Amino acid sequence: MLLFTTLLTQILISSAAVVKLHFPAYRCFHVRPSLTICSNFDYTVLTTPHPLKSVGIPVVIAPLFLYSDDTSENRTKKWNKFDVWWTSLACLPTEKAHDTTNIFFVACSNRTTAIPISESFIDDLKSLEKGIRVFDCVWQEEVLVIAPVICLLCDNARASELLNHLGSTAKKLCRICDTSDGSMCGDHRCKSKAEECIANIVSEQTEKGKKMLRTSYGLREMHNPLFELSVDLYKSTPVEALHTILLGCCKYMVREFMDHRSAKEKKEIMARIKAFSTCGMNCRISSSISYFKSFVGRDFKALMQMALFVLHPYFTVSEKKCWFLLAKVFRLCYCISFSASDTAYWKNVCSEFVRVSVDYMPSYAKRLKTHLVLHLVDNILDFGPTQCYNTERYESYNSLVRAQNIFGNRQSPSRDIATNFAVQQHLTFICSRGYFEGKQCGEQLYSIYLSTQVQQFLRGVSIKKTQSDKDIYQPGCLRKLHHGTVPSRS
Ligand SMILES: [Zn+2]
Repeated sequence: MLLFTTLLTQILISSAAVVKLHFPAYRCFHVRPSLTICSNFDYTVLTTPHPLKSVGIPVVIAPLFLYSDDTSENRTKKWNKFDVWWTSLACLPTEKAHDTTNIFFVACSNRTTAIPISESFIDDLKSLEKGIRVFDCVWQEEVLVIAPVICLLCDNARASELLNHLGSTAKKLCRICDTSDGSMCGDHRCKSKAEECIANIVSEQTEKGKKMLRTSYGLREMHNPLFELSVDLYKSTPVEALHTILLGCCKYMVREFMDHRSAKEKKEIMARIKAFSTCGMNCRISSSISYFKSFVGRDFKALMQMALFVLHPYFTVSEKKCWFLLAKVFRLCYCISFSASDTAYWKNVCSEFVRVSVDYMPSYAKRLKTHLVLHLVDNILDFGPTQCYNTERYESYNSLVRAQNIFGNRQSPSRDIATNFAVQQHLTFICSRGYFEGKQCGEQLYSIYLSTQVQQFLRGVSIKKTQSDKDIYQPGCLRKLHHGTVPSRS
């Protein structure tokens, strides 16, 4: 097996440039149904022929999500920061979007930050926006694949960084609108307006003047290659559930609630949580509620599902109202369908939650994460339910980056990681019967590829781990839709 891998790797490295261009496009065949609908459309009724018709070949539109995050180089410590970029197709069905094979490594570095890294692949993204010709193995002919970035996914700090925004501590705290008051929305930002503001800052002569303009716009001037993309990133960095709701509003509420509980009450709450039946929820709180300050996303997710049942005896009137509204916002974040007719209802819920939280937790109410709840419904209308673009699926891939690095020689970690991922993705593509120069691998190689050992090797999961460990740590498993994924209203 090792010899086979080495041999195939050598062959693939020599042709890596070709595969690199073609690889994402081959994955686009999942969107074939939408193409069929387009081809049935009668263009003759239009006075001007559709520009894509002039290409003379079928066209596949395959929008992309781009994800950026920072992670640790080491397994046990938050140390040696790595900036990583991932991508995946935005048009996949939700259950397929969580699969390990549908998320692709783009770039990483421990020597520079996310924006300079994006310089290295921005030309590729621009060429994908224009479209590339690839061979369609189903239709046995060339097709034009257009794969524009429609959405940038990241945590709030990274989103501000990528949008030249000053961050959540600035006077204009929101990257989506220009409000100075966290409890209400301001005018929405857009790329053209932001570029105008940045040009004004650059043209200002004095440093004092620049500083004043930065504060008044909430923006900073710096070269940003992402502005070269056709997508308006100010409208396309949606509010996502993990960092904004679980690690934002839920975290604030739990802290505010637990800080006001006596030692006796805390003991009672621990007992109530222990006694709560979690069968059917498929999740649990990993540590005691007394360690709520070190809770991670999945703990808050589990706690939110039982909070109203186990905490209600301790609620005051204002607490009760706020927790009920938060539970509704949480439900909105984990729904898998959303009806546009419910827009007014959910907008009212979100604004009511922000209004009530001002009374309940004044210190947290005007923070960015609470404010972003006001933009949640707009983002759902634009991009679909938040579970279609959740970031948990990418977060667990950080462990793969670490695994690649740990077994490297640390001389040039970002290059080694990128090479390993490229080789793995090429191996997966070839061995899963993907077409390369019109040829497929044989049945024998395909059966080897399907064996457990090869699958575990390609996914970076140790064979020695128990099944339960794999359930927890294997990338993709945590994002399988189980609990909390319900229609927005029932
Ligand atoms: Zn805003």
